[in-house]
Amino acid sequence: MYQAADNRYETMTYNRSGRSGLKLPAVSLGLWHNFGGIDVLENGRAMLHRAFDLGITHFDLANNYGPPAGSAEETFGRVLREDLRPYRDEMIISTKAGYYMWPGPYGEWGSKKYLVSSLDQSLKRMGLEYVDIFYHHRPDPNTPLEETMAALDLIVRQGKALYVGLSNYRPEETREASRILKQLGTPAVIHQPNYSMMNRWIEEGLQDVLEEEGIGSIVFSPLEKGILTDRYLNGIAPDSRAAGPSVFLRPEDLNEERITKIKQLNELAATRGQKLSQMALSWVLRGGRVTSALIGASKVSQIEDAVGALTNPTFTSEELRRIDEILGF
Ligand code: NDP
Repeated sequence: MYQAADNRYETMTYNRSGRSGLKLPAVSLGLWHNFGGIDVLENGRAMLHRAFDLGITHFDLANNYGPPAGSAEETFGRVLREDLRPYRDEMIISTKAGYYMWPGPYGEWGSKKYLVSSLDQSLKRMGLEYVDIFYHHRPDPNTPLEETMAALDLIVRQGKALYVGLSNYRPEETREASRILKQLGTPAVIHQPNYSMMNRWIEEGLQDVLEEEGIGSIVFSPLEKGILTDRYLNGIAPDSRAAGPSVFLRPEDLNEERITKIKQLNELAATRGQKLSQMALSWVLRGGRVTSALIGASKVSQIEDAVGALTNPTFTSEELRRIDEILGF
């Protein structure tokens, strides 16, 4: 029988999401990979336990996480039912809809029909009455933004989600969506974009919009799916994401030029007393503009590494300059 660690709130930092009442842990855990039907349930369970014991209160899902699609929500639902149920009110559980989920005209994008049906399915898979955050996963160029935002508002009014968020929306789309949501009385509390030392697009406008609108940010793939870690310093390990079936990280993404840069970053991290993965997380969280770094993990030790990053949050200007130099910014 799982019993959460008594000291689980002693070391984690919690940041307010924008101008909302919601606080999120500085490190959150996403279930995109390694929690699907193809994965080992007991490994997923151990990671969820360890994360919660370390103060990670936020778990991020989407309708299509697996594989197969939907199975990460089923895994999470099972661990919740079997172990974590007593702690439901200590957890922030999110899911999303936007990408392809089922055939026909109502199984993806941003119609009210799709969003409402998809969330109903997600709630069933997780065994929940409501999620804490429901996201529109990607903008839909063909559905009026008013309809998509009205669907988010409806879902909150129906009690199926407490808060709503946007993911992968560009700056101007975000501003417009935020305006509509505020008018409806259900302001967006969070945006989920990708952001890492290697991918800095949110600095070109999105962060300013989020600050103006009072929306927090939880940044996905802060480790660039594993590239910004010690995983690939000595080749492609057989149990790594790049060696596996995921189409989102392929061996060709790890060319010699990139490995040279990663080695240099790894040396710099060592001078800070950090692992490269830890420096990468400290980097996205530097300066307090990001609410939470949303990591993935395949092992308990990776979650421990991530939380360890919080003990060294600051950079000297020389360290920042060196990171930019290595990565060509
Ligand atoms: P990361 O960039 O954090 O990559 C995670 C991977 O990096 C792990 O699976 C592991 O890979 C490797 N890793 C992590 N920690 C360490 C460590 N300490 N040492 C060595 N290797 C490490 O994030 P993800 O790409 O997994 O994305 C995180 C979450 O973001 C997702 O689960 C999802 O919730 C969300 N997301 C949202 C998207 C959206 O469109 N809104 C899109 C993508 C992600 P390995 O398996 O090789 O061990």
